[in-house]
Amino acid sequence: MDRQDKRPDGNEEARDPEGEFERLAHGLSRAARRGQALGRRGPSKPARPATPQIESKPVPPRALPQATPPEKPRARQTESTGPAHGATPSAAAQGRSASNSTGPAPARSARDVAEQAAAARDLTELRARVAACEACSLCETRTQTVFMDGRAERGVMFIGEAPGAEEDKSGVPFVGRSGQLLTDIITKGMGIPRQEVAIANVLKCRPPENRPPTPAEKTTCTPWLDRQIELIDPKVLIPLGRHAAMHVLKVDAPMGAMRQQVHEIGGRKVVPTFHPSYLLRSPGEKKECWKDIQLAMGVLGIDPKANS
Ligand code: SF4
Repeated sequence: MDRQDKRPDGNEEARDPEGEFERLAHGLSRAARRGQALGRRGPSKPARPATPQIESKPVPPRALPQATPPEKPRARQTESTGPAHGATPSAAAQGRSASNSTGPAPARSARDVAEQAAAARDLTELRARVAACEACSLCETRTQTVFMDGRAERGVMFIGEAPGAEEDKSGVPFVGRSGQLLTDIITKGMGIPRQEVAIANVLKCRPPENRPPTPAEKTTCTPWLDRQIELIDPKVLIPLGRHAAMHVLKVDAPMGAMRQQVHEIGGRKVVPTFHPSYLLRSPGEKKECWKDIQLAMGVLGIDPKANS
């Protein structure tokens, strides 16, 4: 369950029971065969070749206040494939490893987070540092940190707001009902396996009782996400919901002012759309979300006909 799944009005809906993203994708495919224009982005580009596995792409540290010796590399497969959907990852174990005598001390302040995030040389190291983080009070109530799921073979990264109860238990983002709807958007709408996209949250620890993260918690934690984006280096970011979109775009704006546009930040395309938990409460907005997803697919060069 993502943090936003649980609502006081109890107006929750089981996973996309109408299969709307699948129907929308098929409807688009039929339209394409009739020669209709697809979206705003013009004709589809050739599919972007799969990027190398993200851990194989060295990204220099942004700043190294103190040279940190590299940790012994962990099994590449563990990080490059991400934890199996629904499976408990080894993040907690990695956190213990990071906080033992061979690694740096856990981050205990916003400054520590900024320095350690900037110094992390790959996602495995970053995951371990996040798992050991004690920089805000959320470390006291979490079961474990929630770092990411999947890879970025297709050049796309989804970013939610914060882990919910199920993510806190499993260590995997988007595993509840909103997670299932996100999976439907990726697999049935975009026609690609969930494990071929990267999925993460702005915050790495669950706020108690699913309360919204405080501004201080977001400020403290977001250097982890910013470095994560640098290391993954996706072509397209898809922030899910207003808070994730505002962080990525560095603006304070309503969702309506950010959607249905392809923004460019730091050489990366950003296509905000609704959070899946909002779509579960407002299923009529799924068509609007599908418009955003088509924009992202256009940037990625994913042919909507391919998943028909
Ligand atoms: S929410 Fe972020 S800053 Fe706070 S303890 Fe968790 S990882 Fe550290």
